[in-house]
Amino acid sequence: FSSVPSPQSNSTDENGFKGHGMLAPFTAGWQSTDVHPLVIERSEGSYVYDIDGKKYLDSLAGLWCTALGGNEPRLVKAATDQLNKLPFYHSFWNRTTKPSLDLAKEMLSMFTAREMGKVFFTNSGSEANDSQVKLVWYYNNALGRPEKKKFIARSKSYHGSTLISASLSGLPALHQKFDLPAPLFCTQTALTTGASIFLTGETEEEFATRLANNLENLILKEGPETIAAFIAEPVMGAGGVIPPPKTYFEKIQAIVKKYDILFIADEVITAFGRLGTMFGCDMYNIKPDLVSVAKALSSAYVPIGATLVSPEISDVIHSQSNKLGSFSHGFTYSGHPVACAVAIESLKIYREKNIPDHVKRISPRFQEGIRAFAGSPIVGEIRGLGFILGTEFSDNKSPNDPFPAEWGVGAIFGAECQKRGMLVRVAGDNIMMSPPLIMTSDEADELVSIYGEALRATE
Ligand code: PLP
Repeated sequence: FSSVPSPQSNSTDENGFKGHGMLAPFTAGWQSTDVHPLVIERSEGSYVYDIDGKKYLDSLAGLWCTALGGNEPRLVKAATDQLNKLPFYHSFWNRTTKPSLDLAKEMLSMFTAREMGKVFFTNSGSEANDSQVKLVWYYNNALGRPEKKKFIARSKSYHGSTLISASLSGLPALHQKFDLPAPLFCTQTALTTGASIFLTGETEEEFATRLANNLENLILKEGPETIAAFIAEPVMGAGGVIPPPKTYFEKIQAIVKKYDILFIADEVITAFGRLGTMFGCDMYNIKPDLVSVAKALSSAYVPIGATLVSPEISDVIHSQSNKLGSFSHGFTYSGHPVACAVAIESLKIYREKNIPDHVKRISPRFQEGIRAFAGSPIVGEIRGLGFILGTEFSDNKSPNDPFPAEWGVGAIFGAECQKRGMLVRVAGDNIMMSPPLIMTSDEADELVSIYGEALRATE
């Protein structure tokens, strides 16, 4: 979300793509008008190919999402079979389709951190988080406590790009220039990087205690009777890949419970194996009231997202709807049968191949391989677990001392990777990687080797 652009394609403009007609998301205006975009044409396993036929190891799995990589024939078959049978029917007014019913059932059985009651389908992670807000407000209205409406999210969090999900997000670029000068209905608390430990000499547990105290003070200042929910990614993704310090979620959960505040786990990136457990909630022993998922739900082959809702909340919504009127929220494509059919097949593959276990087995190769470069003079901090990893470049080896933005160290590193056939996510001086969950040990070695070469070239 910084002004430092990602590296571009080296293509000549034979195809006339420069100055293209698309208003591109998260892209600087000058980039889409003056520079040839990197145009990806096809994919195969963990690799993608651009229109010139150049091959790249896709270390970000699209946008943290193509968990099963490109070209998975079972997903293609699931989509085409469903397209042939029934390309669309909606799920409003108690009409629906079998794939959406089957997927909801499968998701409820797969999520075992606690019992969940119902699944609400959306088309994206942003819509899932928007829906969380409406679910929580409807729930508190149904319980006769309309004043309990505010959300607490965390600085550096990313929860999406629609009005409310951007407001929940703790990245200022999502608010600035969009008439969201302050987040709506929402206030942020800190989850800073290890930099804080680095600077204060605290242990991880002491750091977690301080963050939990900050949260409790914020709740007391705002008035617990006004706070509806706390939302958190188990491991922060777009904010720079920031895993929680030890004991963080244990302490945070005790506080939100104490003040009758709902816990929303935003698992849009972490669900379905990325951390080496099926859900991030399993990794950190989180017992959420609501969960958002998207991305790997269909391995991104077709857009779909969802919120999982606890039985307590879904029971209130059901039992109170006579009083409040029906739950008038949903999207034409909520529970789209093609998306649901692909998601069902994706979940089957995660289970059959035991993808979380695969991630657990291969991740040391990836995580330790990259950490071998921690001594580089331009690396401030390397963070991550499973198949998610962030590198923060910094001056003086201090994670709190970024290079001047105009140096574009992250962009240089990204371009060096791209030159060598690997795509990474660049955000200022943060580099992020979340490879497909099918990445093999050879591919992990290749990733580490390109990272090392690109790092040396950037130093
Ligand atoms: N929540 C998290 C944690 C995300 O990382 C993202 C997207 O990257 C979203 C929500 C928004 O999802 P989408 O882009 O599908 O709307």
